[in-house]
Amino acid sequence: MARLNDNYLKLKAGYLFPEIGRRVKAFTDANPEAKVIKLGIGDVTQPLAPAIIDAFHKAVDDLTQGDSFMGYGPEQGYEFLIDTLIEKAYKPLGVSLKTSEIFISDGSKCDCANILDIFALDNKVAICDPVYPVYNDTNVMVGRTGEANEKGYYDGLVYLPCTEENGFTPAIPTEKVDIVYLCYPNNPTGTVATKEALKQWVDYALANEAVLFYDAAYEAFITEPGIPRSIYEIEGAEKCAIEFRSFSKTAGFTGVRCALTVVPEALMARTEGGELTSLNKLWNRRQSTKFNGVSYPVQKAAAAVYSDEGWAQIQETIDYYMENARLIREGLQAAGLTVYGGINAPYIWLKTPGGMSSWDFFDKLLSECHVVGTPGSGFGPSGEGFYRLSAFGDRENVIEAVKRIKENLA
Ligand SMILES: *Cc1c(COP(=O)(O)O)cnc(C)c1O
Repeated sequence: MARLNDNYLKLKAGYLFPEIGRRVKAFTDANPEAKVIKLGIGDVTQPLAPAIIDAFHKAVDDLTQGDSFMGYGPEQGYEFLIDTLIEKAYKPLGVSLKTSEIFISDGSKCDCANILDIFALDNKVAICDPVYPVYNDTNVMVGRTGEANEKGYYDGLVYLPCTEENGFTPAIPTEKVDIVYLCYPNNPTGTVATKEALKQWVDYALANEAVLFYDAAYEAFITEPGIPRSIYEIEGAEKCAIEFRSFSKTAGFTGVRCALTVVPEALMARTEGGELTSLNKLWNRRQSTKFNGVSYPVQKAAAAVYSDEGWAQIQETIDYYMENARLIREGLQAAGLTVYGGINAPYIWLKTPGGMSSWDFFDKLLSECHVVGTPGSGFGPSGEGFYRLSAFGDRENVIEAVKRIKENLA
């Protein structure tokens, strides 16, 4: 009989969002008249910008004519999109990349997971706690860990607590690790890393021959000057970091699917025999073999994000979400809650009142305010006692949700 991958059985059964869905369904079944407002899952709500839709339509029309029809594209992505990213997304930051260093894909979630293909299993991996669950669970799936302990930490991974005490900025590990996942602006805490903080990570990585996996899915939401938008703004990062970016939150592509991963040519890792070898070549080989590219219309739509019109339009949507974030943050502060994030990220990370557990606070807001957020403990043990609200809702819903919470806590 065929054997399954036992590593999957180590994963904790109750994945966060299904459990939230279950509790919300139980509540709405029992209270069908309640108008439940969902500010939980990190999905966008506003439609694609007109300039993006135009480019998307035009590209679909190209496929209807023999002379403009496109079949398989390059597995790495079309040069029109890669070169646009080099010019418009990276050059303004003072970062120069080559065409061969950017890989277009259908999402950062898969890239963050698939990247593990090109690294040996015996690498020591560090992840933040709380964290985007994908980093943790994909390491369990490939077999890098043992079982989870009663706290929820998997044997074999190094966890970096991000707590109120350390300002949600993890301390540099005292032990030597080989891979570190960083996500800034952060999901779920909404916090950012300064240049100085990132420089410490780059220095650590260079000194320890470690690789940083830098998830910049929320870079477009940075509003304060001086906060780095790319790890490559830090000197030396091209020798120690892979960067993941996505059009999902930046331009509302969560359903359209397009992302990019940067693997610089200067980035090396060692073979079993100790020989320095290019990770760019390995990732290129991996993508060419296991991936057949993102569809042509989607890449045309993605390139339109960086047209003058497209850029102005997506900024409007980002401003809309960040105004939501401000309303949530200031509304909850006025209600006496301690809140973090919401300034350079579309997430508000609030401390539950009176030391309530994350799930108790979830149940309280659901039953008393009919508002759904995400329990912080679902992102890791150090998220216990916190709760995440997303700014991706409609303005009307955000205002109503804040009003209900304020009245409830008054
Ligand atoms: C939403 C999100 C992404 C983007 O994932 P896609 O697969 O590109 O939609 C990546 N990282 C984090 C932390 C996210 O929250």
